[in-house]
Amino acid sequence: DVPHRDLLPVSAASAGRRMPVGLRRPPLRIVVTGGAGFVGSHLVDKLLARGDSVIVIDNFFTGRKENVVHHFHNPRFELIRHDVVEPILLEVDQIYHLACPASPVHYKYNPIKTIKTNVMGTLNMLGLAKRIGARFLLTSTSEIYGDPLEHPQKETYWGNVNPIVHLGRVCLACLPTVSEVIVTLCLLHGQVRKSSHFQLRIARIFNTYGPRMCIDDGRVVSNFVAQALRRQPLTVYGDGKQTRSFQYVSDLVDGLVALMESEHIGPFNLGNPGEFTMLELAEVVKETIDSTAAIEFKPNTADDPHMRKPDITKAKELLNWEPKISLREGLPRMVTNFRQRILDAQS
Ligand code: NAD
Ligand code: UDP
Repeated sequence: DVPHRDLLPVSAASAGRRMPVGLRRPPLRIVVTGGAGFVGSHLVDKLLARGDSVIVIDNFFTGRKENVVHHFHNPRFELIRHDVVEPILLEVDQIYHLACPASPVHYKYNPIKTIKTNVMGTLNMLGLAKRIGARFLLTSTSEIYGDPLEHPQKETYWGNVNPIVHLGRVCLACLPTVSEVIVTLCLLHGQVRKSSHFQLRIARIFNTYGPRMCIDDGRVVSNFVAQALRRQPLTVYGDGKQTRSFQYVSDLVDGLVALMESEHIGPFNLGNPGEFTMLELAEVVKETIDSTAAIEFKPNTADDPHMRKPDITKAKELLNWEPKISLREGLPRMVTNFRQRILDAQS
């Protein structure tokens, strides 16, 4: 899956670098903002494993050093504690921009900070990409589709989002949508010079799960798995008939890399089309961890989307990407990681 040099505009950053053994092109220098977080740290693993150099920028709001500590000995890895709300200057070829709280617990903790991270953080990293002529990949979200009236959701769907400003899920979670618009507008308005190597990529990520997720971040897969392991009832919000599509993290990382190295801006849906109600998810978690686990119904939050399922035809055709890992295959891998972390926290 190593891209040919011809596919990647080589900036000053990579010019003149020596090829490491096994790599058919000079190694790229790649920034991953939010690289100490859940998705970012898996992406870092993949980029380093194929021979590139990675700089992680993270303020450790939800990220953890433990997620990347296994790379500390690697001379091709650097970790910078930095808040993307502040500008930074680096010479790199590619920027994967993931820095943003992703779970309701965290993005509601300090809404103003979340807004700053989304808007100012994205503008800062976009400005850097523009200045140094790097490829810039924005991780947007399926929240852009709101409570969808089209099912499954194609990239062309405009969404059904409650525009009223409140501190509930929709407005804060939709901030990546704002970032998506900012980035696209910058491109369209010619603020990004056509002559530069700057290139844009936009991914719309659907619910992703796997090892290294924050254990108590309030998202449904992490909640159910942690609850079953702690022998607590699984909390189903509402009637549990709302649906989501759950993607294993390695599939997402493959999709992000395929998108970065493609010739397409996007946006691309990156998600697993397998669709489950929350009650069905609870059953899979029970099968995997504890068949005796109880279910407790709790009131649902306002504006909770009734269904979500990506149409991934575009990614299949243009990126030659589709997810490989089903929920029943992926969940046990996450459980192993969560079991160990919960045990470690108790000891
Ligand atoms: P995460 O919370 O595990 O990772 C986010 C990382 O960004 C953390 O390491 C955090 O410390 C860092 N960060 C937050 N604010 C920062 C700031 N101001 N400066 C520097 N670093 C900062 O979340 P994740 O699940 O890995 O999500 C990664 C990206 O993917 C996010 O942009 C998220 O919106 C997007 N996304 C994720 C999902 C999902 O299901 N996981 C779905 C849709 C979109
Ligand atoms: N949910 C649930 N129990 C929980 C946490 C969430 O039933 O303990 C539901 C939530 O109401 C939503 C779905 O699970 O309908 C997915 O929620 P999550 O926050 O994981 O993702 P998102 O809503 O952002 O897709």
